[in-house]
Amino acid sequence: MPRASENLNAFEIAMRQFDEAAKILKLTESQIAMIKEPRRMTEVNLPVRMDDGSITIFKGYRCQHSVARGPAKGGIRFHQDVSADEVRALAFWMTYKCAVVGVPFGGGKGGVVVDPRQLSQNELERLARRYFAEMADLFGPDQDVPAPDVNTNPQVMAWMMDTFSMQRKQYMPGVITGKPLEIGGSEGRTKATSMGLVYCVREMAKHLGLDLKKARLAIQGFGNVGSFAGQILECMGSRVVAISDVGGGFYNTNGISMNMAIDYVENSEAHSLKDFDKTGAAARYDDPMKVLEEDVDILIPAALENQITQKNADRIEAKIIAEGANGPTTPEADAILYEKGSHIIPDILANAGGVTVSYLEWVQNRMGYYWSEERVNEDLEKIMVNAFDEVMAVARDYKVKIRTAAFIVGINRVTKAAELRGLYA
Ligand code: NAD
Repeated sequence: MPRASENLNAFEIAMRQFDEAAKILKLTESQIAMIKEPRRMTEVNLPVRMDDGSITIFKGYRCQHSVARGPAKGGIRFHQDVSADEVRALAFWMTYKCAVVGVPFGGGKGGVVVDPRQLSQNELERLARRYFAEMADLFGPDQDVPAPDVNTNPQVMAWMMDTFSMQRKQYMPGVITGKPLEIGGSEGRTKATSMGLVYCVREMAKHLGLDLKKARLAIQGFGNVGSFAGQILECMGSRVVAISDVGGGFYNTNGISMNMAIDYVENSEAHSLKDFDKTGAAARYDDPMKVLEEDVDILIPAALENQITQKNADRIEAKIIAEGANGPTTPEADAILYEKGSHIIPDILANAGGVTVSYLEWVQNRMGYYWSEERVNEDLEKIMVNAFDEVMAVARDYKVKIRTAAFIVGINRVTKAAELRGLYA
């Protein structure tokens, strides 16, 4: 029987996820009103001088979903498909992600509608600076602390921190995280999201009796999160048999060397896996979406939202799906996979390692004292494993999906904070 078409609006999906957990928690209407919708959404038009002297206007957003548990926290995405609703959804997920791992932040997110591949480095710098200057009143170490997301990186964070520091006439590294080490970044931040995800995968594998040394793995999205997750799991003995990015999808049942693939992306002109098959290391899928359907034990979607839908969910073979990306699975697909017995480690838990080490970076910035990578990773592991255990216990007690359990943990914490603070005026 043909299924009704799916609603792929990220914010509406986020609201459905909230409602599912809120119903179980029997939240009152007032409690829901306090914590469900975003607190503030800002939209700006950013004029940027291009290298040829012309001016282009880019649309920028910043959403502060919640500040109940601390300053808003969440990345800034540069992508041609950024929309107000996507930013709202990502900010909402940040609120509950920070609460799940217990770091003292609310949730925020920013975005600019741009394909950064079309910009020169100088144009990219001018856009990054203009975005931060335009939103400067919103940001601050105790107000709202951004970080990298899709297509933004430590260099972009450095330009943004410098813009803010120049405006305030003082060095303010705590305004943004994910910075280069030389200007207040933290050891361990680059790989933090992937490390956190791998800790969750390791705990889930223990839970299921799956030997990671024999595990086969597929990864969609080969950027910061996907590539390092593959590299770390390969070091633990797993075999990565399929990878994809904007340049296409590639597979090799004998395994793809992660160091080789990472070097390839770093050194290729397109900064992607485009033409990776020409190295002889892997064959190319006609349809890169096939990476999701590969016969593997573990699947890591680490690209964008709405990749696993009701169209492909029943062809997904993986026992463990660890959501590196935010919102990669639609509610319809979630239900299909749950029925099939797949174990989805949801985004607000699986990719929380990034914000956890962002928190540690912010703490170090405030102290002016910096820790070793071992120290950072020790704290990260402790926080991730605690959060994983807590969420799994709630899933067992309430007999709900792990995603709903994660929202239950997060919503309980945010509700409590909002109630304790009460209304100001
Ligand atoms: P990135 O820009 O480093 O990498 C994104 C990757 O996705 C690139 O390899 C890109 O080519 C690929 N991609 C884009 N569209 C694709 C498509 N249609 N099919 C296949 N691949 C595609 O970004 P990132 O920081 O690795 O973020 C990836 C995801 O992880 C996003 O959803 C982001 O919100 C989430 N996330 C990132 C962090 C972090 O610390 N960087 C933390 C938490 C969550």
